Amino acid sequence: MKETLKALSAIPGISGHEDLVREHIKKTIKPYVDDIRDDRMGNLIAVVKGTKKGPKILLSAHMDQIGFIVNHADDKYLKVTPIGGISEKVTPMTPITIHTKKKELKGVIVCKSVFLEETEESKKVTKLKDLLVDIGSIEGDEENKNKKDILKKYGIEIGDPITYDIPFAELQDNCVRGVAFDDRAGCAVLVEALKTLGRNFSGEAHFLFCTQEEVGLKGSRTAAFGIGPDVALVVDTTITGDMPGLTKIDSSTILGKGPIITLADAEGRGLLLRQNVKDWLVETAKKEKIKHQIEIGIRFGTTDATIINMSREGIPTGLISLPGRHIHSPTEIVNIDDLVGATDLVVASIKSANDYFNKSN
Ligand SMILES: [Zn+2]
Repeated sequence: MKETLKALSAIPGISGHEDLVREHIKKTIKPYVDDIRDDRMGNLIAVVKGTKKGPKILLSAHMDQIGFIVNHADDKYLKVTPIGGISEKVTPMTPITIHTKKKELKGVIVCKSVFLEETEESKKVTKLKDLLVDIGSIEGDEENKNKKDILKKYGIEIGDPITYDIPFAELQDNCVRGVAFDDRAGCAVLVEALKTLGRNFSGEAHFLFCTQEEVGLKGSRTAAFGIGPDVALVVDTTITGDMPGLTKIDSSTILGKGPIITLADAEGRGLLLRQNVKDWLVETAKKEKIKHQIEIGIRFGTTDATIINMSREGIPTGLISLPGRHIHSPTEIVNIDDLVGATDLVVASIKSANDYFNKSN
């Protein structure tokens, strides 16, 4: 699991630029699936057919990560536009990589200098719209004098994607630190689930690795329509209550205490599980003795589960949330044991789906 996550999180893939992630997953899972295809939104869909008849089960995780795209530039700095939920509080001075067509350029996200101290202005957080990228360009020499911006000088195009450039690292208690765990951790769980699932279940499992979740739950919307499943299960990250500034009253979940079965998010305006979906997941976790947590999710934000739930005539949809700290910041922390537990729960839920969502029920 650790190696799967490490490899997946190292691949750049902001929303709309998921191709490298998709190709990596495709190569990894091909030996385990009966059918595999891309679609027009850049989604990857892989099918595993069980040996007995049963429901069409959709398992979904999003491939895209938050980041930036190049907007414009002057002779030194790049102006960038955030893609996905970026917080200006935690972004300044983060190392980044710009992915141009031909090469990668390193840089750092910068804000107003801390040396302009002690005015009221300097104490404020730099607004997202005022963040710039410094790629270490110096005053134009004779040769480049006429090139009025650094885009031309360094072969950068408007729209080129930018990702955080922070290496994966192993921390204490089987926790790891890295970029894009939201939702490469979910992708890693589905990849590992595919490896252990086998064919001894009823129905068909359709594994969806989808695009553009962070910018409006887009890939899953069209893919869910195309697949038309009888039931769906989404795997995505969430923040736990054991972060600085949060208390158990804000969130009862804790890193390392197992995958989370989320019953609702955004106060029910996002996902709101019906009893049959809750029973499916909670009873399966209990029966298989999988350590798990149950939560009513955070007030803001939702996942692909919400949009899949409302696809076609309505699709019963569950959500397994992976506990994480500092999600949507430049570097995130997850616990490997939680991801292994989530994998067990995904596999067990595929095997038990027929008991709850048999077409004749
Ligand atoms: Zn996510």
